[in-house]
Amino acid sequence: MNKTEQIASCINHNDKFKNLKCIRNDEKFPLRPLRLRVKYNMNLQNEISNLKHNALQNKKAYQKITQQLKKLKPYDVDELFQTQHEQVFAEIDCLQCANCCKTTPALVTNEDINRIAKHLQLSSKEFITKYVIKDDDGDTILHKTPCTFLGNDNKCTIYEVRPFACKDYPHTNRKKMNQILDLTVKNTEICPAVVRIFENIEDTLT
Ligand code: SF4
Ligand code: SF4
Repeated sequence: MNKTEQIASCINHNDKFKNLKCIRNDEKFPLRPLRLRVKYNMNLQNEISNLKHNALQNKKAYQKITQQLKKLKPYDVDELFQTQHEQVFAEIDCLQCANCCKTTPALVTNEDINRIAKHLQLSSKEFITKYVIKDDDGDTILHKTPCTFLGNDNKCTIYEVRPFACKDYPHTNRKKMNQILDLTVKNTEICPAVVRIFENIEDTLT
């Protein structure tokens, strides 16, 4: 059994948090300091300021991690991301960040448009005229960054009815993660949580 298979086997036969402990405390996979975390050991605002620079610097490291992930079974990749997603979002307070809302226009579906328009007591047509545009790829997005609906306190003013893409962001706790690995790497330019998730996964796989 190679190391990748051993990790997958470990994941398959233990519950989520035991898995992590099992992987990290197993003699074959001893607990080690997170190498990238040491490098990034600064406050969240600094992590956010350095996202683009570090994403470029770590391009090869991300390629290596995604190649390793592609060798695992899709279910095991989902388990790895889910475990790290839960761990990282227990540490990060999105209200101290809001970088996704400040830098990346949200995709909106017709369903989103109808729901948000109703909430704002607008017709869907009025909402589209006021808040929606098409981007260069032809995708329907909210028209401004930072987002019009982002409050000064970093809270979303339409939180209960926000677009599904916002609710799901950064898309690290979903099924078939192996199909969106490139997008997830791209999100290391936007989301400090995704960086930390990759750091932890890298540490687990090494
Ligand atoms: S999802 Fe990521 S980018 Fe968005 S607020 Fe949370 S940590 Fe920041
Ligand atoms: S709709 Fe809300 S969650 Fe989505 S980008 Fe705007 S402020 Fe952020």
